[in-house]
Amino acid sequence: MATINVMKTMTLVDDILKLKKEKRALVLAHNYQRGEIQDIADYVGDSIELCRRAIEEKDARIIVFSAVDFMAESAAILNPDKKVFIPSSGARCPMARMLPAEEVRLWKKKYPKVPVVLYVNTLAEAKAECDICCTSANVVNVVDSLDADTVLFGPDENLAWNVQQKTGKKIIPIPEGGFCPTHVLFLKEDILLLKESHPDAVVAVHPECTPDVQSIADFVGSTSQICKYVGESSAKKYIIGTEVGIIHRVKKENPGKEFIPAYDGAVCPNMKLNTLERVYLTLKEERNPITVPESVAKKARKALERMVSITQ
Ligand code: SF4
Repeated sequence: MATINVMKTMTLVDDILKLKKEKRALVLAHNYQRGEIQDIADYVGDSIELCRRAIEEKDARIIVFSAVDFMAESAAILNPDKKVFIPSSGARCPMARMLPAEEVRLWKKKYPKVPVVLYVNTLAEAKAECDICCTSANVVNVVDSLDADTVLFGPDENLAWNVQQKTGKKIIPIPEGGFCPTHVLFLKEDILLLKESHPDAVVAVHPECTPDVQSIADFVGSTSQICKYVGESSAKKYIIGTEVGIIHRVKKENPGKEFIPAYDGAVCPNMKLNTLERVYLTLKEERNPITVPESVAKKARKALERMVSITQ
């Protein structure tokens, strides 16, 4: 049975590689994607790294963005001349849905003079309502760049807490209590127990984790920052507090180091909806295209491009 599965995977990989060439397709995979998708992707990275790649790869005709909806939408908005597809139409980020555009408008009414910074983990309609977007990698630079002491920030309240600590500005989280259902699974108690068994391990976590978890970590950063940190640090062992898909990448890039998930059940079910079979079908049938109405895309593009210009 195992041999049949391996053969099936090898055939699928061959077919995907062939289709990529034939169709001049670029396959981009987020750090949380299944290992087998990361292995066939042209690039693996965080949302903004992947959007940048999409812009830079001028020869690509189509892009298969293996991630969740808001990331593929951002790629489509920033690359209006390319066709963008997502392997699974059901791969939707629940956190992005916690802040609909109408709610952003309500907060703007309440605080008309306060700039609105939205995490890229929002849908295009919400992005269209903000002044500037940010990622977890560039949020501090983005907030620092604003000539304002108070900022409306959404949708992740834990990231809002992190930015307030780092910038000293008053951050008003919108909505109240927005969160990533995967990152709140990490618990301080679990990490402290792991530290007892692995006293030499360094703890690196994502800022979508709760303040409790962030407070006991040695390093807090985005997925790209965690990858960089573990690559450059001299420590041999790491406890990783972000979606477990990243373990595949850090292990591959750092063969001499050991990585322990801070909680091995921290799986984003939406990210995992993308499978090798679905990548293959998307390439073959060009299914699940991402389209954003131009009236929305135009405004969202402005917020995304403003972010890119600050953090290049
Ligand atoms: S890990 Fe969290 S923020 Fe990222 S896609 Fe999944 S639910 Fe959304």
